[in-house]
Amino acid sequence: MARMSDADSASASVSDPESDCRGCADPAAAFAAHDHRHCAGDVLARAEALVAAGGVRLTPVRRRVLEILLEEHRALGAYDVLKRLAAEGFGNQPPVAYRALDFLAENGFVHRIRRLNAFAACMHPGEDHAPVFLICRNCNAVAEMPAAPVRAALGAAAADLGFAVERTTVEAMGLCPACCKSEAAP
Ligand SMILES: [Zn+2]
Ligand SMILES: [Zn+2]
Ligand SMILES: [Zn+2]
Repeated sequence: MARMSDADSASASVSDPESDCRGCADPAAAFAAHDHRHCAGDVLARAEALVAAGGVRLTPVRRRVLEILLEEHRALGAYDVLKRLAAEGFGNQPPVAYRALDFLAENGFVHRIRRLNAFAACMHPGEDHAPVFLICRNCNAVAEMPAAPVRAALGAAAADLGFAVERTTVEAMGLCPACCKSEAAP
């Protein structure tokens, strides 16, 4: 059965021990020169394996939206995604982009970046995680950083006030290394 073998290869690639893909493994890579085709290909393959295993469908428009967001480590607004879709013949109705983005966000393939009202592809699809986002205010580059130390500090400080933290979204705005350099240049 084709369906069976799809799922088999899917779970094989999901459980692959992670890999030499710096972009996926290392938050610093989001801001450094690297072979991004490798990250994008790896993340897309993981997403496809996950949808196959989860019984949901990556329709052509959902897949294309994910590909567009995977082109760079950068957040894009729904309107920018819609413009790209329209240019590629997917139609120019806003719900097309919004529905695809909602699906991808609900399934953990993209993160909402609230400060920018935008979306960024998740570099760790299928992993239960709530990262700290480092967001460049100049070029919209986004890196996901492990949040455990930040959460622990926040939880401890809140507990001192008798407050039990259930959910946090941590988004740090600033300048990425490249934009730091160009702002410092005369
Ligand atoms: Zn990359
Ligand atoms: Zn993520
Ligand atoms: Zn930047």
